[in-house]
Amino acid sequence: MITIDEALDRILAQVHPIGAEEVRLLDALGRTSAESIVSPEQVPDFANSAMDGFAVSGAELEAGRREFRVVVDIPAGTYVGEPIGQGDAARIMTGAPLPPGVDTVVQVEHTVVDDDIMTVETAPATGANVRDAGEDVRTGDVIFEKGTLLGAAEVGLLAAVGVERARVARRPRVAILATGSELVAAGRPLAPGQIRNSNSFTAYGQVAGAGADPILLGIARDDLDETRRLMAAALENDVVITSGGVSVGDYDFVKQVQDELGVDRKFWGVATKPGKPLAFGVRGSTLVFGVPGNPVAAMVSFELYVRPALLALQGRADIWRPWFNARSGEPVRRAKDRTEVRRCRLTHDPDGTIRYTTTGPQGSGILSSMAGAEGLIFVPARYPGGEVGTEMLVTLLAGSTAERPPYPNPPVEG
Ligand code: AMP
Ligand code: MG
Repeated sequence: MITIDEALDRILAQVHPIGAEEVRLLDALGRTSAESIVSPEQVPDFANSAMDGFAVSGAELEAGRREFRVVVDIPAGTYVGEPIGQGDAARIMTGAPLPPGVDTVVQVEHTVVDDDIMTVETAPATGANVRDAGEDVRTGDVIFEKGTLLGAAEVGLLAAVGVERARVARRPRVAILATGSELVAAGRPLAPGQIRNSNSFTAYGQVAGAGADPILLGIARDDLDETRRLMAAALENDVVITSGGVSVGDYDFVKQVQDELGVDRKFWGVATKPGKPLAFGVRGSTLVFGVPGNPVAAMVSFELYVRPALLALQGRADIWRPWFNARSGEPVRRAKDRTEVRRCRLTHDPDGTIRYTTTGPQGSGILSSMAGAEGLIFVPARYPGGEVGTEMLVTLLAGSTAERPPYPNPPVEG
């Protein structure tokens, strides 16, 4: 068995970014930019007023002038090209371009107006309340780097600089295959001894959540021909996730079919609980993950190993979950010979410190302990147990960061 970090290194060594495609701006939301974006425009395009008020010459204010004649009205969207002369002011609205001859805006609250005479009661400094041309983005600035997730702000920023289409990473196509003769699809009656297939559904959500394209291939019964047929179809995609059939008694089966189909196995077995019988291999550029059948083990394995790979395929640098140390709200149970990954919810102490509490029974089949979980805690192997308040590494089950979590990695014997 290898450590979490060793498994991640072996997986990430096999990831080669996939191609790109061009999409319309709104379709770029949630995708990863396949190029660094150099702004073709400056924002704002012209110096403009940050306030409703009066545009005047700062030099005249500095020289002591307080009375100005209001000679023009400038609403947003109007451009006045004639210079404002000495002793004159322009009534100006927020966002409207400054006319030539003035460089300072006195906000309306600091003035008194009588007919067309405006008196300044509190003089601002020269240049006050003016947004300079290019103060947000200058032409030629790199507004974001290749590999950036395009969220609401990034798509808005592209719109702000006049970009209408974006080159984004292709969505990795991820085949999802459940294995096991005991499995029944949702909607079918359950015969004695059968269980429902939940792994295909959790995997679908996790794949979609990582910006990839889930392709459900259904259930392969424990039958060589059926597994061969479905596995062959699965291998036509960028990534394959099979669930089940990787535990000691079972493994020969999925393994035999993958061997026949030319999958080059990179490891089988990671020293974590849950998630020990994880298998990983490649065929050509296709990444092949065999996650354990138990529903929590399947989800945790995806979180730890498949998700970073899916993000890396899209060229993302922020492939990790945000992490921090948090204090336990309960005594910490001991761990045996593997790093234990437990599900938790997070609360804030009155001083703002984050506290975690595990979500009830932590068995690898207890899917309800995943539902509503906000984070995972990592308890080092052979941890003797600890008191309320003990700090543990927590990774969130949402968001992304480029900083890899410092997973506890004890030496693994045997
Ligand atoms: P396996 O790894 O095939 O030995 O499966 C381990 C456990 O996970 C068994 O109890 C299986 O019934 C269960 N299991 C396997 N696949 C699924 C699935 N798709 N949905 C829910 N449970 C599953
Ligand atoms: Mg099975």
